[in-house]
Formats: sequence, C-alpha cells, structure tokens
Amino acid sequence: MIENEPAISINKTSLRRIAGLFNDYRGEVIIMFVTVLFGVLLGLAPPFLLKVIIDQGLQSKSLDIISRYSLYTILLTLLAASVTLLYGYQSVVIGQKVMREMRNNLFTHLQGMSLRFFTSTRTGDIQTRLISDIGGVQNVVCNTFVDALSNVAIVISAIAAMLYMDWRLTLLALGLIPVFALLGKVVGDFARDVRKGTQEQTSELNSLMQENLSVSGALLGKTIGRADVLAHKFDVENEKLAVWMIKSSVLQYVFFGMFRIITQIIPAIIYWLAGWLMFRGDRSISVGLLVSFSALQARMFFPLTGLMGLQVELISSMALFDRIFEYMDKPFDVQEAPNALALPRGQVKGEVAFEKVGFKYDQESDDWTLEDITFKAHPGQLIALVGPSGAGKTTLTYLIPRLYDVDAGRVTIDGHDVRDISLEDLKQAVGMVTQETYLVHTTIRENLLIAKPDATDEELIKACEAAAIHAHIASLPDGYDTVVGERGYKLSGGEKQRVAIARAILKNPPILILDEATSALDTHSERLIQAALAKLTEGRTTFAIAHRLSTILNADLIMAMKDGRVVESGRHDELLKLDGLYAKLYHEQFEVARAMR
Ligand code: ATP
Repeated sequence: MIENEPAISINKTSLRRIAGLFNDYRGEVIIMFVTVLFGVLLGLAPPFLLKVIIDQGLQSKSLDIISRYSLYTILLTLLAASVTLLYGYQSVVIGQKVMREMRNNLFTHLQGMSLRFFTSTRTGDIQTRLISDIGGVQNVVCNTFVDALSNVAIVISAIAAMLYMDWRLTLLALGLIPVFALLGKVVGDFARDVRKGTQEQTSELNSLMQENLSVSGALLGKTIGRADVLAHKFDVENEKLAVWMIKSSVLQYVFFGMFRIITQIIPAIIYWLAGWLMFRGDRSISVGLLVSFSALQARMFFPLTGLMGLQVELISSMALFDRIFEYMDKPFDVQEAPNALALPRGQVKGEVAFEKVGFKYDQESDDWTLEDITFKAHPGQLIALVGPSGAGKTTLTYLIPRLYDVDAGRVTIDGHDVRDISLEDLKQAVGMVTQETYLVHTTIRENLLIAKPDATDEELIKACEAAAIHAHIASLPDGYDTVVGERGYKLSGGEKQRVAIARAILKNPPILILDEATSALDTHSERLIQAALAKLTEGRTTFAIAHRLSTILNADLIMAMKDGRVVESGRHDELLKLDGLYAKLYHEQFEVARAMR
C-alpha cells in the first residue's frame, strides 16, 4: 500500500508557512542562532589544544604546558556545554510557544466549524491532529532547525580546520564520505517508509480504541455482543503494528551498525595514509596533528550523519504539517456576516418564520432533506413538530440557531434573516434542550454555569427548583459540587434532562427548542419533567419535537412532517378532522396506550 503512494515532497508554500509561524519570535530566533554559532566555535578549540599538549607539552616534557592547556580544555569544554544547554533551552522555549499557538489556533478554528464538519469527521481523527500530529512536529520545530544550523556550522568549521591542518588527509576523509552517504540514503529511504507505515498503523489502532473503548463503544460491544469479532479485528491491526515496530527496530540496529563501521573504518584509513606519509619522511605530520585531526574528523561525523537524515526528518514532518494545515484551511460554512446585526437578548420578541426553506445534508446530491417549508411562529407560541422518524423534525430546528445554513429560502427571527444576525446574539436568543443531554466531566454547578457564567447560587437553586431537580441535587453528599459526566457520578436519563432544563431556564432564551426524549421515562419522572417544561416554555416561542402527542394537545400550531415536507399544519382539533397523517399517529398512540392499560 505504502509503495503505491506518491512520495511526499517538501513544498515551498508549506515551508514558507512553517517559517511564518516563527515571525513573532524573530528576535529570539536570531539570538538563538548567534548562541549556536558561538557554541560551534567553542567546540572547535579542544582539538587544537590537544595538538599543543601532545606536540609541545609531551615532546618537551613540560608539565607546565600540559597543565595549562589541559585546564584551558576543561574550561572551554564546560563553557561549550553551558552554551549548548543555553541554546537547547532557547530552542525548546521558542518551539513550545509556536506549538502552543498552533494548538490554540487549531482548537479555535475547529470550534468555529459547523455541525456538518463534526458529523462527517471521526472524533479520533480530530484528536490525532490536535494532539499527536502537533506533538509530532514539535520535534522539528524545537530541534530540527537548530540541529540543522549547528550541524552545518560544525561540518563547515571542522572541514576548514582539517584543511588548515593537512589538506591530503582532509581529501581522503571527505572522499570516503559519498560512499557512506549513498549507503545512508538507501537506509534512509527505507526508514521513511517504515516510519510512515508505523504512524498510519498507530493511527488506525488509536481510532479503533477510540471507537470501541469509549462509553458508547463499550455499550455497543456489550449489548450487541460483538466482543470476539472486535477482539479479532484489534488483533489483526495490532499484529500489523508489531511487524512495523520490528522493522523499525531492525533498521535502528542496521543504522547503528553502519555508523560503527564507518566511524572505525575512516580513521583507520586516515592513520594508514598518515603513517605512509610519515615513513616517507613528511615532517609536517606529527603525532599531535594526527590525534587532533582524528578528533576533528570524529566531531564532524555525527553532524554529517544528522544532515544526511535531515531530509527524511523534514519529509516525514512535512506530512504532519500538511495534515494540520489541511484542518486550519477548512473554511467555515456557517460564517458571521460582515457588519452582522446586533440583536441583544432584551430586544428579541421571538417571532420565527421559515420562508420556502430547503436544506440538504449532502450538497452534491439531488435529495433534499427539507423542502419548501413555510410557516410563521408568533412570539410566545408553542409549535409542535410531529411525524415519523427521519421526517426532518430535528433538522428543521437546527436551522434556527444556524447549526446548518439553509440551501434555499430563508429563516428569520423578528423579520431578520438569521444569517444577518451576529452569531453570539443568535446563540443567546435560541436555547436547546436535546434528547441527549451532554454533561461535561465536572461539577453540577459548573455544568449549570455554562449557560450563565455569572449566575449566583440563588439563581442556580431557583432554576433547579423550577426544573424539579434541586431536591435531588441537594440530597447528594456533595450537593452542587458533585462531579458528574463520563467518569463522575451518574445521573439518570430523566435527571440529566432536568439539569438540561435548569440550564435552559438559566440561559433564559426568548426562543426555545425542545427535542423530547424518545426513551420512556417512568410516570413520576415524566410528570416532573412535564411540570419543569411547562415552567420553561412560559413566555417563549417554543418548538417542541414531540413523540408523545399527549404533551402537545394545546400547541398553537402542530406541523406534521413526512419525507422533509410539512404535510399538515393546524391545531389539534383541526388536524384530527383532516383525518390524515396526524390523526393516524394520534390514533396509533391512543390504541397503544389503551392496550397497555
Ligand atoms: P427522529 O424522530 O428519528 O429524531 P427526525 O424527524 O428528527 O427523526 P432528522 O434527524 O431531522 O429526522 O433526519 C432527517 C433526515 O436527514 C434523515 O433521513 C436522516 O437520516 C438524515 N440526516 C440526519 N442527520 C444527518 C447528517 N448529519 N448527515 C446526513 N444525513 C443526515
């Protein structure tokens, strides 16, 4: 599979974009680069000092020279180490600032995406890009650029120093490098494929874990009993990962083996040439020169290998950058209009109108999810949506707070197209209590405060009393400070719904959308919820998606929907008289209720 994929290249636009990430830190980057160059120069000194120690100190048996130059070597080495530490620190700090900004930008950008994006993207994929892809480029941002600079500087300065010492030995040392570079490239290309394969396989395994070991995944596995099938699927993917890991480890051994061979073979050949020249009476070659030349050559070797691996490193990181940029570049399909209209909460009357509205989830397709919907809800009215599953009731309500934008016609609030209203004001104007109540893993208090961050304790209690949940919360050992959510205290479905109602009461929106829970609640819970809902809907324009028709008998307008269209609309009595879809649904429920009695 991997062999067939086009090779990823380093493209200039991406490189420029990556460089752009450092724009705000230009000053810090320059200071760091100067520190790197200073460190490189310091590192060059010890081989020269070694030459003096051997050729002058040892030859003339001068302990003074040996002691002095040994001390210089120690001091310079300590200084060089401190400078290395300093630029290492500088690069990590700059890198982390860039990473933090990238994570923030991506998070904020994704928050602004419409529901369409979240329903069509795997959660695992979003998490992988936000956390591990950005984590993956961290290495490049923090280390690779600095390493590249210091490696180039070390190699150039070492070659200059080696040439200064002896050009013939230098030519021999450099002449051998292409042979090993070629070998390095073969291993490097293979390493790139292994790395990509390992990464893709890890991501596959991550998604599999995400999908199966989350609360809903576990529930699915346990209730549908697919545990053994899933375990087998996991094993298959897991084995593929193990194979990639083995290849990766073998490659490391090969790489180190090669490195060892090269670092030992090149000096041996150099010693041979130096010996040959010495025996031929060449007086310019001394023992000191040979030792310090070797030291320089060894100093150059590691950075050279690093530079050879740089391309592989950059290419694989580029793939990660591209994945991050792909998300950053995704356009917002629900955008705030330029000069958006301010519609502060106090000024919203709550009239909602649909004018010939059409909508489709898949914009490429010819199938409309909603078609030709026209109606007007006057302020404070209760509008009920009924109809078989999949008729489009939920979708219709999503168009009011612009979770999606219409594809035909328009939706208005108090006569203003919702697309012209500021997104923040629209969010404040419309409240939703959905079938699935989402509680964040934190205290009940924090969960309630999401709706109104500045609410006082009295307000919280009042809202919870109205939602008939205060007594239950107060009976918990930690009361409002009880931690709920994925790993916290479990509230029952009915209790969660009442918390959601309390949240909506706190938010106090002039327009409210209620998606009635389909799951059957016991009569007591049901009664509590109905009482809470009655309080909540008072004085608000309310859209209720009703599955139990008993709850909407006195709605101001009932719209019966089928296949994305409103097929009947009117009050309960009128619709019963029509003897159409609504009457059929009503009689069906009536029969079921009678049979159960
Ligand atoms: P229910 O009573 O079962 O909740 P509903 O009347 O609220 O149903 P909707 O949820 O509005 O129906 O769905 C209307 C149609 O749109 C259905 O055919 C559904 O499959 C489809 N649909 C819903 N959400 C999406 C989505 N995110 N992407 C594509 N199609 C969708």
